[in-house]
This record gives sequence, C-alpha cells and structure tokens, in this order.
Amino acid sequence: MTSTKYRPRTIPITEIEQSAFCRSTSSLKSKTLAEELKAGVRWQTIPAEYRTLESDQVVERIRDARAKLGERIMVLGHHYQRDEVIQFADFRGDSYNLSKYAAETKGLEAVIFCGVHFMAETADVLTDSDVSVILPNLMAGCSMADMAKIDDVEDCWDELTEVYGNEKIIPITYMNSTAAIKSLCGENGGIVCTSSNATKVFEWAFERGQRVLFLPDQHLGRNTGLKLGIPSDEMVVWSPFKGSGGNSLEQLQKAKVVLWEGHCSVHTRFTVDQVQIARGKHPSVNVIVHPECPQDVLAAADMNGSTELIIKTISEAEAGTEWAVGTEISLVNRLAKEHPDKTVFCLDPVVCPCSTMYRIHPTYLLWVLEALNDGVIVNQISVDKNTQKNALVALERMLNVN
Ligand code: SF4
Repeated sequence: MTSTKYRPRTIPITEIEQSAFCRSTSSLKSKTLAEELKAGVRWQTIPAEYRTLESDQVVERIRDARAKLGERIMVLGHHYQRDEVIQFADFRGDSYNLSKYAAETKGLEAVIFCGVHFMAETADVLTDSDVSVILPNLMAGCSMADMAKIDDVEDCWDELTEVYGNEKIIPITYMNSTAAIKSLCGENGGIVCTSSNATKVFEWAFERGQRVLFLPDQHLGRNTGLKLGIPSDEMVVWSPFKGSGGNSLEQLQKAKVVLWEGHCSVHTRFTVDQVQIARGKHPSVNVIVHPECPQDVLAAADMNGSTELIIKTISEAEAGTEWAVGTEISLVNRLAKEHPDKTVFCLDPVVCPCSTMYRIHPTYLLWVLEALNDGVIVNQISVDKNTQKNALVALERMLNVN
C-alpha cells in the first residue's frame, strides 16, 4: 500500500471563523458594513467610499443600480442568505436550483450569486460561456468545501484505487464541493449528488461498483449509507492527514463506503440535547433537521431532509403546528416570519448564521452592481475549461439519475 503524503493538518480558516457572527439575541438584523467589518473574520477589501455608507443609502443605491441593469443580469439568493440581501434576489433557492435557473435563462450578461464560492463555480459550469458569474465577496467560501482540498483528494483516490485493485470504487461528491472535486468525480466514473437525491445516487453508484468514496461531508454520507442498510462498521472515515486516512488495510478492505472527514460547521452545531430540550418545552413539537447534521441528531428527530424538503414540509403543515428546525438560522427565521400561523424555531438557542454566507453584506452587492453599470466586472468566478468539462460530466450523470 502506498502511504499518503504527510501534510501538517490545517483547519480551514472558514471553520475557525465560523462563530464570528453568533449572537444571543434573536435578531439577525444587518449592521452597517463599517460595524460588521469589526467581526474577527477576513473580508474582501472594498473601495473606501462603500465602507461608510448607511443601510438606507445602500438599499436606495442597490435599487437604482439593479433597475439600470434590467434583464441583462440575474441576482440569485441562496436560502441561507440574510433577508437584507434576499430582498434583491430575482430567485431564491438551493445551490443547484439557482444555478439551473441561471443556465435556463437566455440572454444574460451576468449572474450575481449571493451564496458561497462553490455555488458560483457550479453556476459558471452550467451557464453559457458568455455569462459572467459574480460572487459579491470573494471571502464567502464554505467551511465544508474547504475541508476537501483537491491535492489531498487526489492522494486519497490514488491510494484507494491501488488498495482495491480490480474492485471498482465510485467517487460521489456532494454539490457542496469545489469544481476541481466535481471534475475528479467526472473523470473517474463518479457523480455529484444533492441532499435530496443522495440515496438514489448511492444506489446508482452501487450498481456500478463495489464501493463508494463520499466527499466532502461525512455526515450526509453516513446518514445515506445507514438509510440504505450499510452497517456503520462498513463505513470508514478518511482523514486527509493520516497515513491511509487513519485506517488499517483490513478496515479499508471491509469498507463499502469511505467517508471524507469533512462537515458543515453550521449543521454540526445541532445536538441531541437540543432536541430533548425542544421536546420538553413543546411536547407536541415536530423536529425536522438537515441530513448534514450528525447521525444521532437525525435519530432523535422526527424527520430529516434537504433545505427544499424542510421548506415544503413547514409550508404545507397545518396551522397551529410547532416546528423545531435544525438548519441555518436565516432560513429558519424566514420560515417563522412567512408562517405566522405556525410556531417555527431553531433548535440551537444561539443565533449562529453560516458565517461565510453572511459575508455577502448588502454593500458588497451594491459594489458589484455599480461596477457593472460602469462596465467593470469585479469578482468574476471562472472555472477552467478542462475542469468545467469533467465537472459537467459528473453533474449530467446526476441529472440522469433524477
Ligand atoms: S451552511 Fe455549511 S455547507 Fe452550507 S455554505 Fe455554510 S458552511 Fe457550507
């Protein structure tokens, strides 16, 4: 067996910075950019004149800049985005649906993706080559995607294919990964999945191989494997900085699923204790959580599912029902506001938004819109042609599974 090249373990900076915007008040109202810049996170440098704008000036100027651009552009807002940004979105949705909207709309010059980096990359892969995809703040990454670096994944892939020899292993990557990882999957008979279709994609993979490498979220991978009846001891975690991922040859040979050691810093905040406290306070509460949460949290909840499923379930629920939700707080607060006939609250008592998503402050949106009006494209996200081609293969395989 070859041994994985040793690299000193580094926790992605996006993971370290995750708690920067947590607060104990229930309000997530945006502050001015000048105030928010004081949070201990990296922000992209923005021209000085923007830093001192008051909130109402920003809103007025965004409206004006957006109106001037008309149908030449599309503004996309991910469900986890703050309300002050969502109000300007032409579409809101999950990462894949937003990219699809953009790809299906013809005649666009630019797409402003108010989300995180991997989402803008996916939009660039799916849209026509003459459409510029813009991420308003380049520091809006994703801690989960940052946990799977392409060189580490390549080492892992080389080692696993050597260990398994003629027995095929199929790489599956969650949508929340870099274009480079999607491309590696496309090139090696693999596929992309979302949290809605992970089960079907696993089935697709097991029709084609004996094993699966699942990237980058160990929790979604484990939860999906368990749903399909794969025992826990046939799933191993691959740590990128330990020889053979921290596994013995025997463990690897027994494994049906190799889970990359990654997680979402937002969804791993949810605990079984929080579920029990919610049930204690609200005896008839329904607990619904996202499958990026750890397995014990899913086991303690009443149901689990993708962001779209959570939205649909709560929207269609009867008036008077109570919902404790294990997903990103901006979405939970929005659901509570849009469904005043139901009680909707977040399982986590601390208000902790996705700190990378939260970096899309409205002022950054204003900056990129005004630049476009001046004929300047700032913060364009471009995926190189070869990566794009192979990533598209993996995405198209997913579309054929659906
Ligand atoms: S909620 Fe989690 S997976 Fe989604 S963008 Fe934020 S860190 Fe990434």
